[in-house]
Amino acid sequence: MNETSHLDARIPGRRLLQSPGPTPIPDAVLHALMGQPMDMGDPRVDETIAACEAGLKRLLQTAAGDVFFFICNGHGAWEAAIENLVPAGGTVLVPGTGHFSEGWAVQAEALGRRVRRTPWVEGQAIDPAAVAQALRDDPGHDIAAVFVVHTDTSSGITSDLAAIGAAMRASGHPALFVADVVASLGAEPFAMDALGVDMAVGASQKGLMCPPGVGFVATNARAFAAAQANPAPRFYWDIVRRKSELSYMKFCGTPPQNLLAALRVAFGLIENEGLPQVLARHRQLAGLVHAAVAGWAEAGALGFFAQQPERRSNAVTTITVPAGTDINALRALAREHYQVAFAGALGPLQGRGFRIGHLGDQNPAAMLGAIGAIEAALRAQGLPVGDGVGHAVRRLAAGA
Ligand SMILES: *Cc1c(COP(=O)(O)O)cnc(C)c1O
Repeated sequence: MNETSHLDARIPGRRLLQSPGPTPIPDAVLHALMGQPMDMGDPRVDETIAACEAGLKRLLQTAAGDVFFFICNGHGAWEAAIENLVPAGGTVLVPGTGHFSEGWAVQAEALGRRVRRTPWVEGQAIDPAAVAQALRDDPGHDIAAVFVVHTDTSSGITSDLAAIGAAMRASGHPALFVADVVASLGAEPFAMDALGVDMAVGASQKGLMCPPGVGFVATNARAFAAAQANPAPRFYWDIVRRKSELSYMKFCGTPPQNLLAALRVAFGLIENEGLPQVLARHRQLAGLVHAAVAGWAEAGALGFFAQQPERRSNAVTTITVPAGTDINALRALAREHYQVAFAGALGPLQGRGFRIGHLGDQNPAAMLGAIGAIEAALRAQGLPVGDGVGHAVRRLAAGA
């Protein structure tokens, strides 16, 4: 131990966090995390919970329904959807869109549910016609719910919820429409009531700019009635048990006060900026990354995983690389020497690509810095790349 060993971990400046979750946390949110705990009878606790409920409902654009928070990550919120909406041994339809749709399907199977899948076609969004066909192939209405991942964070693909909802309704099948908005809320347009989504499922650490630790589901009357009618055994995740005016009941125990204080600030930041402006900023930043990838791709080695340009996510971009590329070495170089952290590819894409997050508390200057540092890492690793930085800079200057 020397005089300064406790400072060794400090890096000069800020490391850019271009992961699609967790995402950077704004200073105001960090400060909100630092409060002392309150006794559970303190009215400020109830006030914070009420503000989070109202803020989340405004962001989800749902007027009528209820929101339920859990101390968990996105997988916990997935579990809440499964346990509340699908009877033991019941069936869900999970349209394939990548590693996250498959993860939700596997979790439902592990919990004793049957899963039907529509095929995952690499690089493509969910095909609404395939969803409608799967529902028409179920004349006995065994399928209790359709679990749709809005933005699949592994593929970097955002599926068209309006088209999927329309296809579901046209099929005449009564299955519940459940949307995972973990990665899309705050980055892509989403309006729960207008889309006819019966349950939305989300978490705190992506577009909501908070630490991981709070998951949530929002329900309309139809989804809540399905939960009430569902005899599947459950306790912690049971939204019927949690529907209460008492905060201790709402959280099935002690509420996570600091995380809720942070969430409340995060909702306030989004409202202060304005949701249309937040969404426009995400489109702008995604445009910079897409321009950079198009520039890199000119040398013939890199490319977009998402094949339909209009379905490329505003939250995260998945970039393909030649077989044999050492992605972990690329990430380590960028993280440890250039101070930009980005993600590898997941599941069947592992080793075939990497992902740049452009989600949450991000701005053009930091995004260009990240693009430049990632391009430097690609060049240092000997990968042939075109002028991605130049493309991104010109795109920003053009105001697109
Ligand atoms: C991150 C993510 C999840 C899982 O969230 P965890 O907090 O990691 O459990 C689920 N769905 C989508 C779309 C995600 O991006």
